[in-house]
Amino acid sequence: MLANLLFGPTEIDIVLGKSAPPLLNMANDALFADIDGTLASIADDPSDVQLDEAGRELLKALGARAGGAVALLTGRTLEDADRITGSSVAAIGALHGLQMRSARGVGISTAPTESVRAAADVFATHIGDGRLAARLEDKGASVALHYRHAPEAGASIDAFATEVARAHELRVQKGKMVIEILPPGRNKGDALRTFMRGAPFAGRTPVMVGDDLTDESAFAAANALGGFSVLVGPPRQTAAGYVLDDEDAVRAWLTRALDAAQ
Ligand SMILES: [Mg+2]
Repeated sequence: MLANLLFGPTEIDIVLGKSAPPLLNMANDALFADIDGTLASIADDPSDVQLDEAGRELLKALGARAGGAVALLTGRTLEDADRITGSSVAAIGALHGLQMRSARGVGISTAPTESVRAAADVFATHIGDGRLAARLEDKGASVALHYRHAPEAGASIDAFATEVARAHELRVQKGKMVIEILPPGRNKGDALRTFMRGAPFAGRTPVMVGDDLTDESAFAAANALGGFSVLVGPPRQTAAGYVLDDEDAVRAWLTRALDAAQ
């Protein structure tokens, strides 16, 4: 890896077709990174995953250098991402982009799909005329039907929600005394594109780093917007143009970018 950084691609990298990424340019690039297996090591129990203090400080310093243009893209919830990273990054695309927070720390509403609106209308009508005993919570990007006040209606609400979701090609997520109806679609690529449309990301070059299959959509989005992407881990079929071996290599690469920017 060191040889790559100092002398460019080695013979092995050329055979595999992927080499270590160029240095991040903190003045012009926007950094997007997955958390698990990219910034933080994977643990047997996902709730044990933690980014150490040095990692947290590195993310804060990168954000400061890049004018805040650092974002995490994760399948985890916002709350979980904050726990792992010690709230060292403001901009987060959580739940694969369904739950987004801007670099200024405010929620970004992801455009509600037509089908979520249509489903919300059906539920509102049925609740309005007394056919559905649920309470509707419209979250914009999703709708929730609560029935804590009427547990006996749970089964029929569940059946109706499932039927409406199927008709509108939405997905259903069941919770305690609540059924949520969400769009099936959002992915990390959508989240990256959403961030790139606004400050402080707009005008910068997106660079995406990740190890998961779910990172591929964000690799493709970064590439399409004129940036580049980095796969962390063993070589595989990927849209990423570059590779880094593991979380340690990611940290070394990010640290070098920071040092170069001093
Ligand atoms: Mg990962």
